Amino acid sequence: MIYKLCLGDFQENCYVVANEKNECVIIDAGEEFEKIINFVNKKNLNIKGIILTHAHFDHCASCKQFQDLGVKVYVHKLDADKLSTNKNLSHLFGKTFQNLDADFKFDEGKIIIGNFIFNVIHTPGHSKGSVVLVYKNNVFLGDTIFKNGVGRTDFYDGSAQELINSINKLKPYLNGNYNLFFGH
Ligand SMILES: [Zn+2]
Ligand SMILES: [Zn+2]
Repeated sequence: MIYKLCLGDFQENCYVVANEKNECVIIDAGEEFEKIINFVNKKNLNIKGIILTHAHFDHCASCKQFQDLGVKVYVHKLDADKLSTNKNLSHLFGKTFQNLDADFKFDEGKIIIGNFIFNVIHTPGHSKGSVVLVYKNNVFLGDTIFKNGVGRTDFYDGSAQELINSINKLKPYLNGNYNLFFGH
C-alpha cells in the first residue's frame, strides 16, 4: 500500500510505503510531523526508515523529530549538507528548521531497508542531490517532474541543462507502465 499525505504550506506530498508486515518506509517527511506520526500510528505501522528525494526543507522538515525516535534518514550524498545548513532553503521562506545529520548518504544504485528495495536514479537539476526512487512499479519523482511541468532550477545548485538530461534518463519510466508519484 502507498499512502499520500499532503503537508505544510507548500502542499508537499509525503508518501508512506507499507508492506503486508505492517512495516513502512516514509518518502519525504516534510512539515507537520504530528500529521505523519498520527497517521502511521493510526495504521499501526512500524517505520523502517525515511528516504528523501532531495533535502529542501519542505521535504525533510520532520526528519530530526523522527530521527530522535530512532528512525534512520537516507539522503543522496550531494544533498546531505542541506540537512544542517541554510541550503535547505528554510531561511528563504522564513521557516525554522531542526538540523540533523543523515544516517545514510547514498549514491545511485539500490537502497535495501528490510524487505524494501528501492532503486535510486540520480536526477540532478532541481538540486544537485535530487533523486527519483523506484519501488516495484512505483516511481517517486520528488520535485524533478510534476504532473504539469518540472521543478524549479533557479535555486543555488539547480541547473536547467542537468534537469533536461535527468528527464531524458527517466524516459523509460514515463511510458505508462509505472505509477507516478509527484512531490507536489
Ligand atoms: Zn525542492
Ligand atoms: Zn518541494
